[in-house]
Amino acid sequence: MIYTDAHCHLAPDAGNPEIACRIYNATRPTDWAAAIDVAERDDDRNFAAVGIHPWYIADVTTDFTGEISNVLATHPNLMVGEIGLDKYHPDMPRQIEIFTTQLEIAHKFRRPVHMHCVGAWDKILHIFRERGAKMPPAIVAHGFNGDAGQIQMLADKYNIYFSYHAPREGGADMARITATPKNRILVESDTANPIEEIEKLNAAIDPIAVAHQTDIEEMAEQIYQNLQRIISYVRPIA
Ligand SMILES: [Zn+2]
Repeated sequence: MIYTDAHCHLAPDAGNPEIACRIYNATRPTDWAAAIDVAERDDDRNFAAVGIHPWYIADVTTDFTGEISNVLATHPNLMVGEIGLDKYHPDMPRQIEIFTTQLEIAHKFRRPVHMHCVGAWDKILHIFRERGAKMPPAIVAHGFNGDAGQIQMLADKYNIYFSYHAPREGGADMARITATPKNRILVESDTANPIEEIEKLNAAIDPIAVAHQTDIEEMAEQIYQNLQRIISYVRPIA
């Protein structure tokens, strides 16, 4: 069984060696050093993203645009994340400004984006439409909780992949999983605790395999291949 973790907050030393591939997401400038550490190891198991999470917009430095650009320019294997919008956190206009700036940077450096979105898909789609072609090459919608009916459109138009943790009881999470094409599904632990990483990944993969009537090992292999397509933007296959 091949395990992949499309979205976590585990520094590489903490990570379970059973995981074939994981993506560490920074959330604010104070953890960019951990992301850079992952990037500088340059192995084919651990990848990382730098960005400002919508919960931490107060931590933005005055020259954060210059700083993040510099980090990306010197580390071609880094992605952009965790960025996004969250309606339960303060100052939506500022969140939008920081998110849009980071989208622009990801577009400029051609890096995939790891996106957090809670209750703000309407705003995100508005921003995407306004940007036209000025978009990152791929987007991972982490902990996707948007409208199942929009999944195919999001995949086709914006090259979005949909990352899931364990579905909650009730139909909405399973409806999203069922509506996601197999070649667009990712799984994630979203954890900073190494002890629970595998357990969380299993809790996500099991119901996905059932929903797609696929053998669990085959589903895990498909998810691995999906994550490799995201990684191919920062590590072209030789
Ligand atoms: Zn996260």
